[in-house]
Amino acid sequence: MSDCIFCKIVAGELPGEILYQDDLVAVFKDLNPKGPVHILIIPTKHIKSVADSTSGDKIIFGELIYRAKIMAQELGVAENGFRLIINNGRDAGQTVDHVHVHLIGGRIMSWPPG
Ligand code: 5GP
Ligand code: ZN
Repeated sequence: MSDCIFCKIVAGELPGEILYQDDLVAVFKDLNPKGPVHILIIPTKHIKSVADSTSGDKIIFGELIYRAKIMAQELGVAENGFRLIINNGRDAGQTVDHVHVHLIGGRIMSWPPG
């Protein structure tokens, strides 16, 4: 998608601190971190939302969660705990229309989220 900021970060057309990238997924730091660790794991393919995904995207979604686990280990939050969040749609607070898994860690979090 030509006007998608996350597609542009993956393509190197916008600045972003990319921590990992392969054919299916990319990982970069969130611009406005909500914790000591806050990264975004995204599909390199433009998928607007979880609700917009198809059965053909199942492998991609598996890769997103698996990569989150690896990143949590690499960033040192796997042992103490971390949270994975996918906001879907307006009521959930999705502001960027390209699927992204938030990985937040490095602090104690409350439940339920606001
Ligand atoms: P959402 O509210 O859609 O679940 O999360 C969007 C996230 O993208 C927010 O945490 C926000 O800080 C982050 N974000 C928005 N614009 C940019 C950007 O240009 N670069 C990076 N690295 N993160 C961004
Ligand atoms: Zn996109």
